Amino acid sequence: MMTEDQAHEKLKVLKWPDGIPTCPICGSKQSWQVDARKWKCRGKRIDATTGKERWCYYQYTITTQTHLHSRKRSLKHILAACLSFVNGVLGAAALRQRREIKNSYKTPFVFQHRIRAAIDAANQKQLADGPFMEGEVEIDGMFVTGRKVKLKAPITDEKELEKFFETYRETHTALVVVRERRAGGSDVPGRVRTIHVAKEGDSIPFIRRVVKTGTTIHADYSSQYNPLRMFYPMQRVNHSKTYKEGDACTNQAESFFSRVRAAKEGVYRSWRKKYVSWYGVEMAWREENSRIPNGDQVDLVLKALLQLGRSPITGYWQEHKRKPLF
Ligand SMILES: [Zn+2]
Repeated sequence: MMTEDQAHEKLKVLKWPDGIPTCPICGSKQSWQVDARKWKCRGKRIDATTGKERWCYYQYTITTQTHLHSRKRSLKHILAACLSFVNGVLGAAALRQRREIKNSYKTPFVFQHRIRAAIDAANQKQLADGPFMEGEVEIDGMFVTGRKVKLKAPITDEKELEKFFETYRETHTALVVVRERRAGGSDVPGRVRTIHVAKEGDSIPFIRRVVKTGTTIHADYSSQYNPLRMFYPMQRVNHSKTYKEGDACTNQAESFFSRVRAAKEGVYRSWRKKYVSWYGVEMAWREENSRIPNGDQVDLVLKALLQLGRSPITGYWQEHKRKPLF
């Protein structure tokens, strides 16, 4: 097991690749060392209230103003929790983590949400640079939350299927996946993103933000996706008859959902509606990074936790209101 100092050294390199402590408020690399793991900023910044330049003097550690802000666990515990998170192929049940790391149920529960929030923040940052998926993309939706609807007879045509889905949409929400196919011969895995929406059609603005114009989109015949025809060449597959029609195919999106279902039923047991989008973020991340070694996956998680701003769920259990910075 790593010592706390070793854990700190590892995180420091991930946080500041050049090894120089940097103020999270003004970005200055000038600092005094207060103690082994704390620095005080020597930079200058504009004071928010007076509008005048002043000394920064902000005191910070490697976790200040990151997704690990106001952490209560030691750094070595955080590393162990990240490793455990990465090791669960179908997701890591908070209860299993409690056994492994010996803390309460809510600590790993909240910490996992911090990881999801950090991955989500990294995704949002990427989205700000514009659409990034290209080539061939598959989209599909899965109904989540709400009760199951029993089928009276097998569905045989697309009209009946659409009618059946109509009833579903009244009581259920949808998790929509946008999955890029891996380019032929390439080692780079296709990117995977999800969005939680009231009905599949609501995912169209998101799909447009993610997928580059001119990309071929594969989808089923659901009329929910029809508006996409204005922006992308489309291949449709009739799911009531077959899973593959000519070149049209959504098998990779389907296989993602079979893993999501296995995780939902086997690991997490239940997803509360308000967390569905975060579970989607997690599952998409696992799918996309499934081919890279565990150690690198841990580093990816830690970078997201340390390099992006504060978590929206700091003080989650206390329901603390987020305080403004100054
Ligand atoms: Zn500063």
